[in-house]
Amino acid sequence: MSQTEPLLELRNLEKHFDQETSIISATMNYIRGNEPPRIRAVDGLDLKLMPNEVEGVIGESGCGKTTLLLTLMGLHDHTDGELIFDGKPVSEFDKADWKEFRRRVQIIFQDPFNSMDPKLSVREALMEPLEIHNVGNKQKRVHEALERAELNPPEQYLDRLPSQLSGGEKQRVSIARALVLEPDVILADEPVSMLDVSTQASVLNLLSDLTDELGVSMLYISHDLSTVSYVCERVNVMYLGRFVENAPTQRLLDDPKHPYSQALIGAIPVPNPHVKRERTDMTGTPSDPIDLPGGCRFKDRCSERMDICDVSPIDWEMDGGQREVACHIYYDHEKVVGDVADGTDPGGEPPVASDD
Ligand code: SF4
Repeated sequence: MSQTEPLLELRNLEKHFDQETSIISATMNYIRGNEPPRIRAVDGLDLKLMPNEVEGVIGESGCGKTTLLLTLMGLHDHTDGELIFDGKPVSEFDKADWKEFRRRVQIIFQDPFNSMDPKLSVREALMEPLEIHNVGNKQKRVHEALERAELNPPEQYLDRLPSQLSGGEKQRVSIARALVLEPDVILADEPVSMLDVSTQASVLNLLSDLTDELGVSMLYISHDLSTVSYVCERVNVMYLGRFVENAPTQRLLDDPKHPYSQALIGAIPVPNPHVKRERTDMTGTPSDPIDLPGGCRFKDRCSERMDICDVSPIDWEMDGGQREVACHIYYDHEKVVGDVADGTDPGGEPPVASDD
């Protein structure tokens, strides 16, 4: 595959869940011919993870990050759109493709305390994936993976059980386990959120160094913009199942465009009492994902809200294509909405009509 092609690509990816509260409500919906209520946890995401690239997804709890991760891992079937790995849609995968996918795409979980089998030593935990995938040179690979994860000397850790490791060491073992199969992509799910601050910094440095040195691509998913910005070249801001902005990390930090991004960045503490960051007001809580408002999903919390925000904003390219923002503030909404209503193209990015 060409280096200009994405390794992992999401095209309008959706994962919706039926929400039935009881057999009675399911029966009543059936009798009345009503669709069951749906949770639109992941609702039309586009993303391209290129080789050697580290991309972040940031959003608060309940925005759909976990569903996205489980869908990317193949543990949830997506309900619409496409998930493409190395040029092939996963919907066309056979058993051998899935086995190859599980070798080439590895996961680092949030919770190092529960992601390891308490009965397996470090050696056994790292040997297991090599045995499943029938990989040779097992001892050498285990040693190298531990060295890369900065667990030195490896002999000192090989026979330890998880109970004999600190939180930081456990997460390094998880990283070594992810590396032992020499993957192309790492999915990192809040990998430092359960570690203390000093350990966070060293694990972030390790992840950053590893992706540089090994050329591994990584999708880093977190609620914590400060850690995302430390390791990621680009960031996607997620709100209630959709990306509302994506941009190179530094541009986003310096000049966030979407009001939700502005509120997130305004809330990052500045470690200097003489520097005041401009804050954007964000009131209330996110809407119920089974009863989402029509139009912009952020509108009930947005201080910039306008009448037109009852129509879903389209993804609008800015900064010469470096950034996309889904907010009516940034385009000639009367023209775009008029064209959407007419079903004609506004002449820029293709319009996305509201399905809300
Ligand atoms: S589209 Fe409207 S409600 Fe939504 S973020 Fe932009 S200004 Fe706020």
